[in-house]
Amino acid sequence: MLLEKMTMEEFSVALEKTKTLAVPYGTLEAHGKHLPLYTDTITMCRVLEEAALERDFFIAPPVHYGVCTSTGQHPGSIGITPPTLRRITTDIVTDAYARGLRNILLISGHGGGAHVAAMKESAEVLAATLPHLTIAALSIYDVIWDDLERLAETENDSHAGEMETSIILHLAPKLVKGRGAEEYPAFTKPLIFADKVSQWPGAVWGNPEKATPEKGRELFLAMVRVTIEILKKMDEAAR
Ligand SMILES: [Zn+2]
Repeated sequence: MLLEKMTMEEFSVALEKTKTLAVPYGTLEAHGKHLPLYTDTITMCRVLEEAALERDFFIAPPVHYGVCTSTGQHPGSIGITPPTLRRITTDIVTDAYARGLRNILLISGHGGGAHVAAMKESAEVLAATLPHLTIAALSIYDVIWDDLERLAETENDSHAGEMETSIILHLAPKLVKGRGAEEYPAFTKPLIFADKVSQWPGAVWGNPEKATPEKGRELFLAMVRVTIEILKKMDEAAR
């Protein structure tokens, strides 16, 4: 159930059936020269919409801005800082709780470390503060490792690479503009430099040439399955 399309009356009736809300998180972030800036958002929103065909729960409009460190200076990326993400997460969950929602899934199509950490930090505080809240905070990429390993031909595949390109080929093929070249960032870990663009000019981590819509469909369905499992777990914990 897409919250944004419901009336207040429909919301009240539906709240009798479910007290679960999923909040998709995305980014406006460079994804190679070939994928749209809102790749993470579209992926997460579509996964939740598909999961909602099988299970009753509310879907909030996405948090469309995220914390982007590695891609923060690439063309088109517009991000927010961790305190902002923590604040908006805290406000959304607190207000949803006040409307009667009790199980809240915060799930991100972006896997950046600082981004997911900010979501989790807020969730920890909220879990300790709101007495009847069941909450989960994660990136979908945290729970899909087995499927990524099974489906990807590229060994070290990640951002805008084989599998993320495959997903967008499945979900929105018209938005895929050719293919960025195979690339891996030359980050000098553990050193951190502000200028990531010179170490990672193409913003591709992996090999987009290996992407296919079929692989994208399989990974997409795996993401849906894993999301449904998490929602079930939350419902069981809330009982
Ligand atoms: Zn992405």
